Amino acid sequence: MEENVQISTKHLFDHFPNAESGRLYFERQRWNGRIVCAHCGADDKITARKGKRAGYYCCGSCKEEFSVRTNTIFERSHVPLHKWIHAIVLTVSMHHELSSTLLAAQIGVTQKTAWKMQARIRDALIDGGDDVELDLFSQ
Ligand SMILES: [Zn+2]
Repeated sequence: MEENVQISTKHLFDHFPNAESGRLYFERQRWNGRIVCAHCGADDKITARKGKRAGYYCCGSCKEEFSVRTNTIFERSHVPLHKWIHAIVLTVSMHHELSSTLLAAQIGVTQKTAWKMQARIRDALIDGGDDVELDLFSQ
């Protein structure tokens, strides 16, 4: 990603308008079409849940259930994943200019939730000088 890219909130909402679009994006990033069990690492016998449980997967090897959030900074968060994308982009691009109050207003969560999200995002940031890298999936 180029430095100082101005990304508008409207642009973000166009690309990631809902929870499902956010989930599908992170699934591509994490698995790239080959879903791997977050518990045992098996990549066969994975069954996708349907309907309201879409986004959850069941592993035939260890019988555990997981989602793209398992073992990531998004685990145990009720915030939809598209809002996480918005929060990540805003936090990375605005850095310290972005208060939790402003973030809360931008993505529609409470200030307390926004503060927690920012703390998790900053923990995942790898400071590589000019390049900012996010290590979202190795926790
Ligand atoms: Zn498994």
